[in-house]
Amino acid sequence: MKLATKLIHGGIEPDPSTGAIMTPIFQTSTYVQEAPGKNKGYEYARSQNPTRMVLEEALAISENGKFGLCFSSGVAATDAVIKLLSPGDEVIAGNDMYGGTYRLFSKVFEKFGIKFHYVDMSSTDNISKVINEKTRLLWIETPTNPLMNIVDIASVTKLAKQKKILTCVDNTFASPYLQNPLDLGADIVMHSATKYLGGHSDVIHGCLMMNDRDLRDQLYFIQKSCGAVPGPQDCFLILRGLKTLHLRMERHCINGEQVANYLRNHSKVGKVYWCGFEDHPGYAVAKKQMRGFGGMMSFTLKDDSVEKAMKLLSSTKLFALAESLGGVESLINHPATMTHASIPREERIKNGLTDSLIRLSVGVEDITDLIDDLNQALESL
Ligand SMILES: *Cc1c(COP(=O)(O)O)cnc(C)c1O
Repeated sequence: MKLATKLIHGGIEPDPSTGAIMTPIFQTSTYVQEAPGKNKGYEYARSQNPTRMVLEEALAISENGKFGLCFSSGVAATDAVIKLLSPGDEVIAGNDMYGGTYRLFSKVFEKFGIKFHYVDMSSTDNISKVINEKTRLLWIETPTNPLMNIVDIASVTKLAKQKKILTCVDNTFASPYLQNPLDLGADIVMHSATKYLGGHSDVIHGCLMMNDRDLRDQLYFIQKSCGAVPGPQDCFLILRGLKTLHLRMERHCINGEQVANYLRNHSKVGKVYWCGFEDHPGYAVAKKQMRGFGGMMSFTLKDDSVEKAMKLLSSTKLFALAESLGGVESLINHPATMTHASIPREERIKNGLTDSLIRLSVGVEDITDLIDDLNQALESL
């Protein structure tokens, strides 16, 4: 089956009791048992919920994986992966990544004795240099947030396999429509389903997909023991979002390309970070491992002043000033004070995330309206 069909039909069966074509929202905390230990496979909703289990199957299929697990947020899904580790273990992660992931690693898990190294993963040499006998996990984000660097997933997972190191790819920016890390050798794929999978900015949700049964069982144990499970209503919303992912992504890609080219040719714009430009350093790898380039991008102004950037951020009318991404509506964001405020300034600037960087999540509105909006905002400077 092709992706569009899988997204609509994967894991979905009519409800056996009524024939309802849409998966019911099983809003229940517990299940009546016939006798102690004798039940229909459902005991307590932290461990099993039918709405969530249908979504887990659908998500697994979307990433060509065997198993899926859902969490109450993307961060909770990340948290579960790190809980596979023990004190003394080491993780290698990217030096440009989602601020909340950095905060979870550095402010929560470091004090439990797990060590994190942050390197530019667009070169596998940088990773090889910090691998040692304590390295247990490579945490990969590509395209990176917000600088849109590209990591070669197949090369990195190959290196990890030789050393028996686990790999997890945060595939939130690309979505399963653009990139399938399990096919490229990753052990786990993580998504903030809050973004493209949900697609309508109305739910917080996260998930993990994998192929290995043992790994799934370990992560399921963490899911039920730590309890960061999503409610059934939230699972229903992600199930609904998933069915139009391919339609939305197609338009995000078309609009993204137009906005990227518009910005690049504007006299007041400095550098545009978008992985679909042929002169982007990661273009060849992006072309190899992605089916398109998406609607995420960042840019600076030629007059690289924070004041001008701030003025632009409050001058757009359609592009709403907000954190998050991947919804149908376009968003504009200031990483330094918003999504990436939890990364120390020095650290940020060292990695190229300057105070004047602006990030866009290009939505699926009419492209002429989007360009008009950016145009009036840029002209007002
Ligand atoms: C939003 C986001 C997360 C965190 O997900 P939440 O659902 O907000 O907890 C992780 N990684 C990336 C790339 C994100 O954009």
